Amino acid sequence: MSRKPIIAGNWKMNKTLSEAVAFAEAVKNEIPSKELVDTVIGSPALFLAHLAEAAKGTELQLSAQNSYFENAGAYTGENSPAAIADLGVEYIIIGHSERREYFGETDEDINKKAKAIIANGLTPIVCCGESLETYEAGETATWVESQITGALKDLTADQVSNLVIAYEPIWAIGTGKSATAETADETCGVVRATVEKLYGKNVADAVRIQYGGSVKPENVAEYMSKENVDGALVGGASLEPASFLALLNFVK
Ligand code: 13P
Repeated sequence: MSRKPIIAGNWKMNKTLSEAVAFAEAVKNEIPSKELVDTVIGSPALFLAHLAEAAKGTELQLSAQNSYFENAGAYTGENSPAAIADLGVEYIIIGHSERREYFGETDEDINKKAKAIIANGLTPIVCCGESLETYEAGETATWVESQITGALKDLTADQVSNLVIAYEPIWAIGTGKSATAETADETCGVVRATVEKLYGKNVADAVRIQYGGSVKPENVAEYMSKENVDGALVGGASLEPASFLALLNFVK
């Protein structure tokens, strides 16, 4: 089963508008064809309209880093998935460990967001991952299985086939302490096995699973060589154009 790789930068809360647009201008004509790899920037919502303009007609794709689960209404400060879709953005990251930890997001919220995002024709990038404590207790598989089961609740097989799931161990995020490629492969395999248990083998074979946590140009190819790793979700190493583009060097 060959799944198209997907490399996504997650800028988190970095850059100003002019820096964001300068970045897009610097990379947009250097990106491999969408037929080979999906190349995505996850930008703060503030910049997405401008980035969409800059990326028009190029291989560069865009993601928001979060959205609400309602399309409109009295939800001060939130961003509507319908409004994000209208910008020409294709993905929305949901359930990042930073959203879970600092903003109290639950699997139930993430499930509602996944449904709303899909209903608007976008692809959720659903994040999961365990803390150092859970990892050291040997409970990673149970933890991740429970997060994925909660996040995907009541989604259809077709919807799950088209999802992207990102496995990001919290102890590897921004720490420089990446999981070994074997560990990444093993836990991405747990995610795939969970999808198989819930939806069957065809769906498990189709869903794309990224590893995230201190991915860099120097280690991305090793992760990408693993059977269960279909892509990377990259924070720090996605912030500079040269480093972002170097993440794509594994594409032949
Ligand atoms: P780093 O690549 O900076 O470790 O961040 C990973 C991450 O959280 C991407 O979503």
